[in-house]
Amino acid sequence: MLTIRGLCADVTDKDEILKGVNLSVNAGEVHAVMGPNGSGKSTLSNVLSGHPDYSVRSGEVLYCDQNLFEMSADERAVGGIFMAFQYPISLPGVTVLHFLQTIMNQQRKARGEQLLDAYEVIQRAEQAAKMVGLDPIFLERALNDGFSGGEKKRCEVLQMLLLQPKLIILDETDSGLDIDALKIVGQAVDHLRDKSRSFLVVTHYQRLLDYVVPDHVHVMLNGKFVQSGDRELAKKLEQDGYQWLSKTSSNS
Ligand code: ADP
Ligand code: MG
Repeated sequence: MLTIRGLCADVTDKDEILKGVNLSVNAGEVHAVMGPNGSGKSTLSNVLSGHPDYSVRSGEVLYCDQNLFEMSADERAVGGIFMAFQYPISLPGVTVLHFLQTIMNQQRKARGEQLLDAYEVIQRAEQAAKMVGLDPIFLERALNDGFSGGEKKRCEVLQMLLLQPKLIILDETDSGLDIDALKIVGQAVDHLRDKSRSFLVVTHYQRLLDYVVPDHVHVMLNGKFVQSGDRELAKKLEQDGYQWLSKTSSNS
């Protein structure tokens, strides 16, 4: 599904942020990415989804055997890459429903499928809204405009349920969620788990991983992965923090 080799990247006018990232994700796998603030987790997510502010200095990324960097951000999105933002932006004047209809139909158009009419979109959106515990009334509101942190994150997961992506990148989707919302979101994400779908779950806390149990856990420190392991590693990080890793990696 995804192969990252020696990826170095930066953001406009800044020093290199990613300093040699290697990662291999097979179809059906869930990989958790953990690491302290500022280590480069969101940068990796943004580079993979094609954010225009980030530039790749070296390295390569293959997505389903295609060179990811030859695909525009749009091609990546309609080609099945989905990123749930750490800080979703609001779009005053654009209702959630209108936004959902647009993204679903863009995807269908790219695949040569029949477009959905407003009625079909409402049916699907209402059902998905229930799954993420969002009142259908939100469908009539402007996207993320005045939404609480938790509502924004639920709205990200709502889009994900409707688009059924192949590669899902969750950038701290659990932050800003209370325990009940975390459970609902965790279950919705787990519901999408499938042998043909992969996840990159960026998280600070191991609690989301109680619902979405990862196959592999990686720790990012200063722009690269310094340690990989299984679920137990996430638990150790929650207990012991990241200090022990900086000692290990500076010795190596
Ligand atoms: P994380 O998600 O692990 O907290 P980030 O990838 O957001 O880390 O940030 C890594 C570093 O890159 C930080 O020092 C951050 O300030 C910087 N950075 C990331 N995005 C931008 C940006 N758009 N403009 C300026 N600096 C950025
Ligand atoms: Mg981040």
